Formats: sequence, structure tokens, C-alpha cells
Amino acid sequence: MKQKPEHFNGIPVSGGVVVGKVFRLDPRRLTFEVSAIPKNKIEEEIERFQNAVEVSKRQLRQIREKAESDVDEIHASIFDSHILMLDDPLIIKDTIEGIRREKKNSEYVLEKTVERIASLFKKMPDEYFSTRSTDLYDVAHHILKNLLKAGDHPLKSLKEPVIVVGHDLGPSDTVMMDRSKVIGFVTQVGGPTSHTAIMAKALEIPAVVGVAGIMEKAQTGDILIIDGVGGRVILNPTEQELKKYEILKKKIIEQEQSLSAICALPAETLDGYTIELSANIEIPGEVEHVKQHGADGIGLFRTEFFYLNRARFPDENEQYRVYREVLEAVHPKTVIFRTLDIGGDKFISGLRFKELNPFMGLRAIRLGLANPDMFKVQLRAILRASAAGNAKLMFPMVSCLEEVREVKKLLEEVKEDLDKERIPFQSDIELGIMVEIPSAAVTADILSREVNFFSIGTNDLIQYTLAVDRVNENVAYLYEPYHPAILRLIRDIIIAGHKNSVWVGLCGEMASDPITAIILLGLGIDELSMGPVAIPEVKRVIRHIRLSDAKRLANEILQMNAATEIKRYVAAYSRKFL
Ligand code: PEP
Ligand code: MG
Repeated sequence: MKQKPEHFNGIPVSGGVVVGKVFRLDPRRLTFEVSAIPKNKIEEEIERFQNAVEVSKRQLRQIREKAESDVDEIHASIFDSHILMLDDPLIIKDTIEGIRREKKNSEYVLEKTVERIASLFKKMPDEYFSTRSTDLYDVAHHILKNLLKAGDHPLKSLKEPVIVVGHDLGPSDTVMMDRSKVIGFVTQVGGPTSHTAIMAKALEIPAVVGVAGIMEKAQTGDILIIDGVGGRVILNPTEQELKKYEILKKKIIEQEQSLSAICALPAETLDGYTIELSANIEIPGEVEHVKQHGADGIGLFRTEFFYLNRARFPDENEQYRVYREVLEAVHPKTVIFRTLDIGGDKFISGLRFKELNPFMGLRAIRLGLANPDMFKVQLRAILRASAAGNAKLMFPMVSCLEEVREVKKLLEEVKEDLDKERIPFQSDIELGIMVEIPSAAVTADILSREVNFFSIGTNDLIQYTLAVDRVNENVAYLYEPYHPAILRLIRDIIIAGHKNSVWVGLCGEMASDPITAIILLGLGIDELSMGPVAIPEVKRVIRHIRLSDAKRLANEILQMNAATEIKRYVAAYSRKFL
């Protein structure tokens, strides 16, 4: 009997449409029996346990190497803490002592030991420890699998293309999976910065996360549609739905193909004005897409990924290697490194601070300035890497002049240290700030005397100007790029910047919408930075218009009173001209 279609909504984190068969990734529960070990076999049982630990270490080292070669160093380093856990006396010694004391099999004693440690972790107020229990279970699972001689990871030997549906995907799932066979992800939990979301973007496969209820319904072999643009998931679709999405998928593919020809061309208007189109990236693995989609450089390297899933801040060398790799990969194009911007919507498992209002709390540059030693590590790593390419440095969430001065002072100290150590770096590295807090926008004339460039962060500028939480769906209807306040602020920032010869880019989501891109062009923006996949379409539209027309459009909408009016006008304009 044909199954009834089920419709779900979630958070779209990686675009495109895909239709395929479900592969359900269940939490891998390994079952075993509890057995008594005779006294004369205890040492043998301990040896069996120790062997399983050694094999697990070897396997984890191999996974680490695979992660390093297939993904990047950041992913690989996640496994370092797992490998270390295999030497942790709290787990290993306690289990061995437990086997001796209780005279029971290793599987049983290990599980008991792990449960005891995990419950201790969970009780700790520090979020770092409570999230460590996930790592602990992962490590214990490796040992158990070896004790039971259970098979490989289920995603390792897929027979056909599948859409992986799971509660959430962890680093070992995505590293072990056969990427040639995975065509999409759907997960029950997770947000835009979850591991699943980041991997989906890097692999350029459609993904929707936070799909409540999917694990109760989806079974391996079911047919599923992912609409990675609209955030819709349809399980066991009707023939009609299948046809509709096949048409949409074909259209997207055709669009992509027709756009690929445009990648190598400049973003030049019909009247000869060229604007820079750069890419936003979140992980080094995205560099390939930056090149494929014809970006003029990287306009925003969000370095937060470094701090996700981490127990500690990454060290200087680890950061240096990654920054250098990215710079070399896009050379001679520029990379704008944004220093760490954690806090608010950027969830960091191990480093979250308990604050009542984190969006306005100790985050981004404030966090860096409050922890200069930690911040200097990142500045050193970026400066050292800058010797290998064309780097610029950008600071997020600047709210006042004092912060810019303070951060420049810190940077000078780092430069002096590097000079003393005779370590090469780009001594004239350009400095910029994100203009994403209204106070910075309004005082852009003052701040422009301190830096070489601005990049307008409209994602936050809209949030703070309109007092609308950017991740709260209850007030999403008020989140409005076309609000006259936003358009006026952008106009004023550009004018203030240009008065002081500061170039002004924009790296919020507004840059990736072809219509807002035209308006920004008309307002005089110098650079637009967006997710790599958005570049070809924005470029196509820019190549079809005149700068003079874009200016006229921008001026016209600046005279209007409300977003509704502006949107009506802009919609009619785009129907007519685009
Ligand atoms: C922004 O705020 O517009 C921006 C580009 O930064 P993020 O989205 O990382 O806060
Ligand atoms: Mg921001």
C-alpha cells in the first residue's frame, strides 16, 4: 500500500532540491550480555579490554588522518580529544579496576564506568563539561564496537545514493561516510551553525536541519524530497509533488549551468562600472567553491568555526596553518579575516558564557579585548599567515572609537613581538571593521579615520536597528532590509566612508539577493560579499543593468516612507527589468 505523504518544515541550511531514498542513521546502540568472569580469567579479560582500547586508538588516528586529508585540520583536531580520552585513567583505569572488583565482562563494566562519569559531567554547571559527555559516549562506543567485533560505520559502505536522515550528524559520521553516495541531509535537531549545516554547505548538498518529528516517521528506503531553499521536507511524496520538485530541481540545475559561463566574467554593469563580488566562507573546505563560482576574493572569513566543538581555544600554529592554506588557495586574491565573533547567535559549545542577554553581551571584539592573551594568539596567527598571500584584517561588532583604538594597540604589540622574533608578516595589512551596530553606523565618519575599510554587516545591523532578534521566528515579520532606517544607514555609512577614502563593502545576506544588490550598487557600495553559490546570479543581474539605473532606483526608494511601499515598487521594477 502506498504510504501517505508527510510534510515537515525545518531550517534550510544548504540550498538546492534533491529527491532520493532515505538512509536512516539510528543512534548506534550495541547490545551485549552481562557475564561473570571466573577469577582465573580476569587477567585475560583485562587484556581483551586493553586490546580493544589499542585498536580504538589506531582507528581514531586513521579517522583523524582521513579527516585531515578529506576535510581539514579543524575537523581533524576534533578527534585529538577523543584519542586523549583513550588514555584517560578516569575511563581506562577505572574500568580495569572495575573488572577486577566486580568480576564481570569488560562491556558491562565499561558502560557502567562511562555512565558514572557522564552523569558527573552532566551535573557540572559549566556547559563545557556537560557537552563533553557526548564525546565520552562516542569514545566508549569505539571501544565497545571493538570488544564486540561489530562492523564498520553504517555510512561507510552505502550501496546507492541516499539522503541521510538522523537525529544529528557528528564529526565521525561525516568523516566516515561515503561522500559519493550521500546526496542530502535531514536532521531532527540542529541550527545554522550545527556540524550538519556546515558540512552540507562544504559538500554543496541540500540540507534541512531542526526538522521536528522526522525520526518518528522516516524509514530507510522511503522516498524523500528536500527543498533546501524553502526548508521543506516531504516524506513519501505524491506523484504530483514528485513532478513539481523534479521540475524545480531541473530548473535549478539549468540555472546553475547557464550561470557557470558567467563565473569567469567581471561584475561589470552595461555602462562599464565594475563592482567586486567576494565570497563569505565559514570553513576552509569552502575555498574550492569560492573559486568555482568566480568570486573576486574572500570578503568574509568567519573564523568562529575554529571554536566550535572545541574544549579549548585553538593554538596559534593550528590557526596559522589553516589561514595560510586559505590564503594560498585563493592567491593572488584577497582574504578578509574576521577575528572571532562568538556569542549571540554564534553558539560555541565549550565557551558559552551564561548571560541574560547574550546578543548584547560580552561577545565578538568585546570578548577579544577582555581576553587579550587569547585574542593575541589569533592576531599573531593571521599576521604570520599574511606573509603567504593577500590578507586583510577585520573586527566584528565594533560599537565605539575606543574599541578600534584598543584593538589597534593590541595589534601593534603583536607586530612588535613578531618583528623582534624576525617572523615575516604583511606589515601594512589593511584594517577594517564590520559596521553592524547602529552606533558605529551613525559615527561612521569618526570611525573611518581609523581604518582602511568598512564591511556593513546587515544581518546584525538590521537586528540591532530594528530591535528584532535575527533568530526569533516570532518577530521575523519585522526583520526588514527594506526598512527606510536601514537604507538610510547604509547610504550614510557609504558616504561617510568615501569621504575619508575608506572603501565600503557589505557582507550580510542583503548582498546575496539580486534586487538588494542592485540597490546597494546604486547606493555606491564598493564590494558585495556573499555565500559562494549566490555570486553567479548576482553577477548576471549586475551585468544586465546600468549603474545610472541602479542609482535612480536607490534614490527613488530612499524617498519612500515604508518598507511595504518600497517592496511593492522594487517588485514591479524587477518584473519589468530583470
Ligand atoms: C552580519 O552581521 O551581517 C554578518 C555578515 O556577520 P554574521 O552574520 O556572521 O553576524
Ligand atoms: Mg554580524
